[in-house]
Amino acid sequence: MSSEVVDYKGQVEAVREAFEREFGRFARFRDNEESESLALDEAEGLLRELSDVRTRHTAKKSALSQLMKLIGRVPAEERARFGQSVQLLNNYVVESLDKAQAALKVRIEFLQRERERVDVTLPGRRPRRGHLHPITLLRQRIEDIFVAMGYSVEDGPEVETEFYNFTALNIPELHPARSPQDTFYTTDGLSLRSQTSTVQIHAMQRRRPPLRVIAPGRVFRRDTPDATHNPMFFQLEGLLVERGINMGHLKGTLSEFVRRLFGPSTRTRFRPSYFPFTEPSMEADYSCFKCGGAGCRLCKGSGWIELGGSGMVHPNVLRAVRVDPEEFSGFAFGLGIDRMCGLMYELDDIRLLFENDVRFLEQF
Ligand SMILES: [Zn+2]
Repeated sequence: MSSEVVDYKGQVEAVREAFEREFGRFARFRDNEESESLALDEAEGLLRELSDVRTRHTAKKSALSQLMKLIGRVPAEERARFGQSVQLLNNYVVESLDKAQAALKVRIEFLQRERERVDVTLPGRRPRRGHLHPITLLRQRIEDIFVAMGYSVEDGPEVETEFYNFTALNIPELHPARSPQDTFYTTDGLSLRSQTSTVQIHAMQRRRPPLRVIAPGRVFRRDTPDATHNPMFFQLEGLLVERGINMGHLKGTLSEFVRRLFGPSTRTRFRPSYFPFTEPSMEADYSCFKCGGAGCRLCKGSGWIELGGSGMVHPNVLRAVRVDPEEFSGFAFGLGIDRMCGLMYELDDIRLLFENDVRFLEQF
């Protein structure tokens, strides 16, 4: 039996004090979970430091572990009390560490959720925005002009029967336009419309005269693509059928149209022509919008630009839809939208309009 007086109580207190000194700055998280003011990196730093404190004070070589080992070696009469106080200290240390750690973890998880949450008040990342195709832009300008003159916008099918594409338009049986060399046929005898004039027939069947319609749309012809031709292109058909309509109305309408599109000083001229579905027929030209008629590269030095074909609706076309040519007369015209678009934007090649290359389209 050793006569040496060992201060067991003092040893326990010393270990407690050492722990308290290091744990002191974490105590507020244990006592009232006061962690609301911590920023995320701050809380994460404290959690790491707390873990070091736990290692120093509870690991195998810690002073607390030494006290635990000592319990068995303490004289029997002291053992119970010593063991109890060491156990209480151990509970206190572990519980303090656990509570502070839990409070810090709660704070960290909260801040992480905050950081990942989508803030709906922040401006979003804007998706790359497209805009209307140059042909669409021009088509809409043309539509606006005619709508202001009392026309309505009609639509028609792109695949047509012989009746709509040719017969009702007074195109004779053996006309070359009907040839498969000029027109795309399907295997069951339908064809892709070769002009928007087909909509004249649909429109007059749908709504009886008097009527004013325009019909923009795609048409198809068997052409070899080059800088000025494409097998698919955009036309705009116009049709007016009323009582007492004559060539003067047609000329006035087209002249007013180009003045509204290209400016009030734009002039027009008309040349006789031939189309199966109009009689008489004429080609309309307008003074070059770039040089004003003096002659430039755009108008190939002539001062004039071709607008399109037109004429008085052929009586046979009216008869094909059971409209009496003695009662009604009218005029029709067709404009090439893409060719006009190519001139307005001075494109060297109209195929650019159909290739959908963003580098080209972005320029409009
Ligand atoms: Zn010119």
